[in-house]
Amino acid sequence: MIIVMKPRTKQEEIERIRVRLSQLGCEVRDIKGLNYHIFGLIGNTNLVDPDRLLANEGVEKVIHVQEPYKIANRLFQPEDTIVDIEGQKIGGENFAVIAGPCSVESEEQITGIAQAVKAAGAGLLRGGAFKPRTSPYSFQGLGEDGLDLLKIAKEKTGLPIVSELMSVEHLPRFCQDVDIIQIGARNMQNYELLKAVGQIRKPVILKRGLSSTIEELLLAAEYILAQGNDQVILCERGIRTFEHFTRNTLDLSAIPVIKKLSHLPVIVDPSHAGGIWWLVEPLAKAALVVGADGVMIEVHNDPVNAKCDGQQSLKPDKFASLMDSLKDLAQIQGKKI
Ligand code: PEP
Ligand code: MN
Repeated sequence: MIIVMKPRTKQEEIERIRVRLSQLGCEVRDIKGLNYHIFGLIGNTNLVDPDRLLANEGVEKVIHVQEPYKIANRLFQPEDTIVDIEGQKIGGENFAVIAGPCSVESEEQITGIAQAVKAAGAGLLRGGAFKPRTSPYSFQGLGEDGLDLLKIAKEKTGLPIVSELMSVEHLPRFCQDVDIIQIGARNMQNYELLKAVGQIRKPVILKRGLSSTIEELLLAAEYILAQGNDQVILCERGIRTFEHFTRNTLDLSAIPVIKKLSHLPVIVDPSHAGGIWWLVEPLAKAALVVGADGVMIEVHNDPVNAKCDGQQSLKPDKFASLMDSLKDLAQIQGKKI
């Protein structure tokens, strides 16, 4: 439920209503703008009587939030959430580019790719250290050693690091050395993991599950938000359909839909969506045009010998030319790269 206070309502009146709402047993969140004050109620609102609330002079209107996600709902926060990672902004008028290999393989590999993507204009470096692989016999990532190498790449380039967390056990190490924690598609509904990253105060990229609806994605985000971490970035990375030419089907319509339903930033991962390197450019451009807040792109210096996802990785020169096209498109769309 949302309670919109009348503009210019006195602070004492706002406080009085807040106390009353808390007494009725719900969690009260303040949503404040230049000219408005809104209360967002979470939890059990059974005891809140909208008619009695409207009898208060300062109350303008009471809105029922029908959607099961509350904090993620745009009704709770009309303005876009903008996540700031060491000056790299995701959300609002910014278009963020995160690039790097599927997995960290060696110091030379990760630092070389980091320098190349930085030179092309990427703002953040991705690299998997713990890899969720379909087969237990596939390369599982370098683990903590991979995080050490990402740290070296960051020292050399200054690029903040994005890496996937698969287990709560590794959370303390990620809190120290990773700038954005990625929750992968396979873990989108790992609720214990979501609650754990909800308790920290670091940005989280939450990828859409392989067969998840938009509502399920927003409810997964709600798990993180409900624990107090408000720095959530959603990621559309394609969903399973009957089509097999592409690895997944990029649900481009999810972007404007999510932007309408929620204030959270949404980025697109065209690499895992298409699954083929030459699809990355058109899908990344489409993402920008439909209003995404950024893209996350796999880049590898030697895709043929990559330990993971070489077929969908761009070589640094292809990535650089994609960046040039994205910069031109961003200008037309009124976005800042
Ligand atoms: C990845 O980003 O490397 C990855 C495994 O992605 P997803 O969870 O979307 O499959
Ligand atoms: Mn990958």
